[in-house]
Amino acid sequence: MPTETFEFQVEARQLLQLMIHSVYSNKDVFLRELVSNASDALDKLRIAALRGEAPDADTSDLHIEIEADKEARTLTVRDNGIGMSYEEVGQLIGTIANSGTAKFLEELRQAKDTAAAEGLIGRFGVGFYSAFMVADEVTLVTRRAGEEQGTRWSSRGEGTYTLEKVDDVPQGTSVTLHLKPADPDNQLHDYTSPWKIREIVKRYSDFITWPVKLLPQDGTGKDGDGAREPETLNSMKALWARPRDEVSDEEYHELYKHLSHDWQDPLETIRLQAEGTFEYQALLFLPSRAPHDLFTQGFRHGLQLYVKRVFIMDDCEALLPPYLRFVRGVVDAQDLSLNVSREILQQDRHIEMMRRRLTKKVLSSLKEMKANAPDRFATFWREFGAVLKEGLVTDAENRDAILAVASFASTHDAEKPTTLAEYVARAKDDRQDIYYLTGDSRHALENSPHMEAFRERGIEVLLLTDPVDEVWVDTVGEFDGRKLRSVAKGELDLGDADGDGKGGEREKQDEEYAGLLGWMKEQLGEDVKDVRLSGRLTVSPACVVSDAGDLTPALENMYRAMGQ
Ligand code: ADP
Ligand code: MG
Repeated sequence: MPTETFEFQVEARQLLQLMIHSVYSNKDVFLRELVSNASDALDKLRIAALRGEAPDADTSDLHIEIEADKEARTLTVRDNGIGMSYEEVGQLIGTIANSGTAKFLEELRQAKDTAAAEGLIGRFGVGFYSAFMVADEVTLVTRRAGEEQGTRWSSRGEGTYTLEKVDDVPQGTSVTLHLKPADPDNQLHDYTSPWKIREIVKRYSDFITWPVKLLPQDGTGKDGDGAREPETLNSMKALWARPRDEVSDEEYHELYKHLSHDWQDPLETIRLQAEGTFEYQALLFLPSRAPHDLFTQGFRHGLQLYVKRVFIMDDCEALLPPYLRFVRGVVDAQDLSLNVSREILQQDRHIEMMRRRLTKKVLSSLKEMKANAPDRFATFWREFGAVLKEGLVTDAENRDAILAVASFASTHDAEKPTTLAEYVARAKDDRQDIYYLTGDSRHALENSPHMEAFRERGIEVLLLTDPVDEVWVDTVGEFDGRKLRSVAKGELDLGDADGDGKGGEREKQDEEYAGLLGWMKEQLGEDVKDVRLSGRLTVSPACVVSDAGDLTPALENMYRAMGQ
């Protein structure tokens, strides 16, 4: 079969251009990306084998190999994992299916200068394509486990790539980089040097659970004793099983980056060692930034599940409730069947136990963070508060723990959000309810006519702008014996004669204006339920108020958008 030439997608081409001309200072990370892909491929093969889906695959000696050739200036990263079929190579390597990358490119278009663009590489990472930071040509040869036919993909990164079917290819994938000319002034960047390779693998990939072996080159065999044994570079030690004081923050952060495909450090690392009859260890991470697809249907979440150090599955959703879907990490259980399926997991008693414990652990860590590192907590809340609040609706058991950290914008302070407890502590009168207003933006809420009476009386109002706010305020209903009340709904009794309450004064006015009110009601007809005098307003002549039980306009919109 002849070699076929294809064009990269427009997006892929842009990305490659950026890689080729990159001055991104930390080019070493390309090796981390290739080793990480190889490790993923080995994980996938093991899972397929466990499920009996790869009967013809060879799983006898799974490992990753690195081979450098100083003369030819090539570097090869090889694995004997799941591999790719001809079609898969075209789909996975030739296009940018990853939506994170699409987002990356969108931000790239808005980036003002090269420095900003380089910063974006650091934030998003671009996986396989990062090879083009150090190589002017990349060749990938692969054979899918259990299939006969192999495939060769090759590209100089300049707009096209070639695909070719080839025979006699070993199972798995090998990626060969033809390195760019060496920089004579900077020997530090010689990626064919065993020292350099060892250093990078140690730094970024030490915890990879598969052996990463460096093949000896001519003249670089260990100690010149003629030994030609490959050298295993990584310790393969499970970080979660090692004592806290033996692991550096950087090691934790590298594991996080491997798990999450995030290029930024995590905001927080949470360790949990459960002992007793059902033993397990967990290492959880809170990202420092919300992924852009956090609120989309297909958002991949959950933790990696290991049983006694053996990787079982990715994205194990059963281990955390949906409102903690941004948490990344690993759970390693001592005593669970290796053949668990997702369906079984949903009902497994031990998994349920772990989920409850892990949930409480995350929430207690947030409470600690709020008390001890308020700035970090503020970042967390800005990025993930809207998701966490879903828990107020769906997780009655932990509602109080969530309310203990949940922070809301308020008229009390333009900058600093407040908890309900802080609101209550400030309330002038000990029977005052907790007032809030929901809407699209702080600005719109502050300018709402509903706010007038409250501003006038100096009563604090929470300004809630997330869609989920409409829902939790109803589910929670009250806090510390005080009702949560929308300032835009129902009758308002602010405890003085100016409110909506029917004091003697109001009754007299009602009689006086009965004719006008009746006429207005007739004119507005079907559009309103009632027309009333009100003490809510100080400046605006009139405003629309919902009945206490009615949907607010924003919620009506939300339900309408959901097709209900
Ligand atoms: P990511 O790893 O974040 O998915 P990459 O750009 O690193 O993105 O890789 C793109 C895809 O190419 C991977 O998701 C995988 O399906 C495929 N791939 C890359 N390297 C390998 C490999 N060594 N073996 C099998 N598949 C691979
Ligand atoms: Mg990758």
